[in-house]
Amino acid sequence: MATITQTDTIKTITTHYIDGAFVESHGREVMDIIKPTNGQVIGRVTLGDEEDTRRAIAAAKRAFTSFSRTTKEERSRYLRRLHEAVSARIDDLTDVMVEEYGGVVRFARLIVESGVAAFAAAEKGLQELPLKRSWGKTTVTLEPVGVAGLITAWNANALFICLKLASAVAAGCTVVLKPSEMSSLQTRVMVECLNAAGLPKGVFNVVTGLGTVVGAELVRNPDVAKISFTGSVAVGEAIMRDGAATMKRITLELGGKSPTIVLDDAALDKAIPSALILAFMNSGQACAAGTRLLVPRSRLDEVKQAIQEGMRTFTVGDPADPNIMVGPMVSQKQFERVESYIRKGIEEGTEVLVGGEGRPKGLEAGYFVKPTVFVNVKNDMAIAQEEIFGPVLSVIAYDSEDDAIRIANDSKYGLHSAVMGTDLDRARRVASQLRAGRVVINNMTDDPQAPWGGFKYSGVGREYGKYGIEAFLEPKAILE
Ligand code: NAD
Repeated sequence: MATITQTDTIKTITTHYIDGAFVESHGREVMDIIKPTNGQVIGRVTLGDEEDTRRAIAAAKRAFTSFSRTTKEERSRYLRRLHEAVSARIDDLTDVMVEEYGGVVRFARLIVESGVAAFAAAEKGLQELPLKRSWGKTTVTLEPVGVAGLITAWNANALFICLKLASAVAAGCTVVLKPSEMSSLQTRVMVECLNAAGLPKGVFNVVTGLGTVVGAELVRNPDVAKISFTGSVAVGEAIMRDGAATMKRITLELGGKSPTIVLDDAALDKAIPSALILAFMNSGQACAAGTRLLVPRSRLDEVKQAIQEGMRTFTVGDPADPNIMVGPMVSQKQFERVESYIRKGIEEGTEVLVGGEGRPKGLEAGYFVKPTVFVNVKNDMAIAQEEIFGPVLSVIAYDSEDDAIRIANDSKYGLHSAVMGTDLDRARRVASQLRAGRVVINNMTDDPQAPWGGFKYSGVGREYGKYGIEAFLEPKAILE
């Protein structure tokens, strides 16, 4: 099915996906999609309005009546079909992520594969989650909460859509998805996959549009019971505030300023390359990016040397090239934001160990920045406290294990952390004292059954596996 029309090199999308069909947008505003490697227009998307959103909500509400009564087995079957349908187009989904978002190909593929894995993880989570428990004369069932509004960010579009949809479907909820408007081309390929899975019509609906229009309607509409949101703290706060009027159930996956603690017994030849991957993954546009590197003051010189060596592999350039590690920023706005923080870091009196202001040589056309490492950073500086969302790493020296833990926790965020060390018991002891939703020891690793989400300003609630499904369920007790 051709759902994208292409004239020369510009792709045009004028439809949304509502009630099992691609339907023309009621909203008329058109937005350009810009390719981040060269600033050229590669797409035009017609943005949905409140009317499109209400039509999608009505379709989801109609479908909820029967979908909410499906059995675990039926929903498992749908999850398997979704898994198959998205698996079949991993290459296409990767290519469009590279083109529209500028994600480096090796990482973009991992993101898409994680999205595919989310359906299998939800199926497993559903099997492990008892939806009914009885004792004495009491029976407790976990029931789908209702129509869910799913609102996503632009930095890992495929993953967010699959993850949220998988949990909602597993729970028996129907959904209206509002992807980031900046991910419209990626979303369209994804919706073609989801459509191919053949779920009952109305179970998932997709309206592309602005957050302040489509997103706001989802948040205020009384027929939407739940919002699952991934994005910035500022918008998360607005959703919580505005959602209160209709008593929304709310999951918020927000920002981070994650610490990586290198303990003094760490093998630097392993710890520093791992720490650099944590910091610069997805070109630094990652909520979990380990952007504060906490190192023992006694080993600072060795660390600086290891970083300089390690950074040679963090090449910047065309994200379609499999040898490239850092791609462009997603937009001009994001480019300016990252540059302004690099300037701020210099003004705050830190030492620029690697990178600095301005575009890398030969990459003047796109939104490229230089991967930058600051040393002599104090944890109260803006570059250590505020989420930059770009390839900028702050190295902070500490004096003792307790000092490292104190600095790590001295942040408004608490999404992700890492501990690097040779003595595993000690690393575990440090990990247990970190105020973060997830801590990895010695390497970036993942487990789709483990919960994902933040302490403090990093969010409310959890995603993944059974924890993610529970967020779309409501306990009900029947007492005889
Ligand atoms: P954003 O908050 O600007 O936008 C996120 C989504 O919200 C978009 O779809 C946007 O259109 C929509 N939106 C905007 N205003 C809205 C409103 N008033 N009501 C409803 N929806 C609205 O964030 P972004 O710039 O797209 O993404 C970057 C942020 O996302 C970073 O802070 C990053 O840390 C965070 N993030 C968090 C996670 C996580 O899992 N915790 C993952 C990825 C990104």
